Amino acid sequence: MGDLAVRRVVIENAYITPVVGEEIPCGHIVVEGDRIAAVGPGPAAAVPEGADRVDGSGCLATPGLVNTHHHLYQWAAQGVMPDGTLFEWLMASYRLWARLDAEVVSGAATAGLAWLAKSGCTTSTDHHYVFPRGRGDLFEAEIDAARRVGLRFHPCRGSMDRGRSQGGLPPDDVVEDADEILRATEEAIQKFHDPSFGSMLRVGVAPCSPFSVSGDLMIRSAELARSHGVRLHTHIAETADEDEHCREQFGMLPVEYLDGLGWLGPDVWLAHCVHLTDKDVRRFAETGTGVAHCPSSNGRLGAGIARVADLLRAGAPVGLGVDGAASSEMTPLAGEIRMAMLMQRARYGPSALTARRALELATIGGAGCLGRAAEIGSLEAGKLADIALWRLGGFHAAIDDPVVAFAYGQTPPLARLLVGGRTVVEDGELRTVSDAAAAEAGARAHRRLLGAA
Ligand SMILES: [Zn+2]
Repeated sequence: MGDLAVRRVVIENAYITPVVGEEIPCGHIVVEGDRIAAVGPGPAAAVPEGADRVDGSGCLATPGLVNTHHHLYQWAAQGVMPDGTLFEWLMASYRLWARLDAEVVSGAATAGLAWLAKSGCTTSTDHHYVFPRGRGDLFEAEIDAARRVGLRFHPCRGSMDRGRSQGGLPPDDVVEDADEILRATEEAIQKFHDPSFGSMLRVGVAPCSPFSVSGDLMIRSAELARSHGVRLHTHIAETADEDEHCREQFGMLPVEYLDGLGWLGPDVWLAHCVHLTDKDVRRFAETGTGVAHCPSSNGRLGAGIARVADLLRAGAPVGLGVDGAASSEMTPLAGEIRMAMLMQRARYGPSALTARRALELATIGGAGCLGRAAEIGSLEAGKLADIALWRLGGFHAAIDDPVVAFAYGQTPPLARLLVGGRTVVEDGELRTVSDAAAAEAGARAHRRLLGAA
């Protein structure tokens, strides 16, 4: 952050969709340091000395996109069991994941975060839950990658303690001991978590799923997170198989089970939430529990279509996520806006989710899930300068409404991506690391993981 004082950027002549507040057909955004200093119609009233002036003619400015669910390590393990159900795919994947080390995680996270940046993402979470013994500091490896790529990062220390011998799904050799998990999680919070306004890094606590984690660890994880004021995350209600597993093992459905463990609340956001009862939808809204909707992954695994329209109607917070690349193969975050819109319409009709509402999910909705709606997710003076500028010329120019042009068809190229005022992408190419180096890091991680298996 050494160059913070000299970050001055002025974008002019752009169509601005601030997400909160009125759209501005031709306006300016002034960035000073890591914050937005001004947003408004027409040219900027005052251009700071030495500012990087960007002509946004023919461009759409949106808030940077927020990714609420990911497993970055999976970049190294894509294409496994391409036609399997969630449980079939997991069973095939656990063996490979057991070979992870810090080098694989570093390369996979570099490629995964670079790919996110190239699709307009400025803040991403990650959920890492596989920690084979003696393979280096996997959590720190992904944090280093996020620093290099330049994204705002919310890594979650995940976990699994319920192996097959305890009635769980994963083999016993990929799970950890609960005491060890809690010790390592607390250490990660103390070492890396930064709660300040403008933070580039916040840690979350994220046991993996009801079928790989004990109830005892769920309860103790929630106590630990709440004692440190950090957020809670897990997978829930992803597939019909999971419903069956929970009925058999716990005598109730997944969300009822979570509720009983004290795991619904405004400090919790949950991935998938495909199979919800009406009561579950109400409970999410009542408790302010967030949902990370991952439509491509749900489609890839044939999990179903989440009740996003119902959740929004009830008032529950909803964000978008790409999920791990092993179950969504290079899904671009901006593409999830289109996917969410189309899948909701396929289920509920053409008015179920508009392009503008889907953009809200990808920005302010995701910011809410991560507890950062006051800092990111909209273009407003005083907020952090996380901005995506999309180029709508060329083939996109035949659609008049810029938000429709952005959301309906192929995602337009990025003219700029700013994270805290710093240019991470320019003219479609990364400026922090190179495109070629990030792609090669991912390919090398994949070869290393396969070579080790
Ligand atoms: Zn996931």
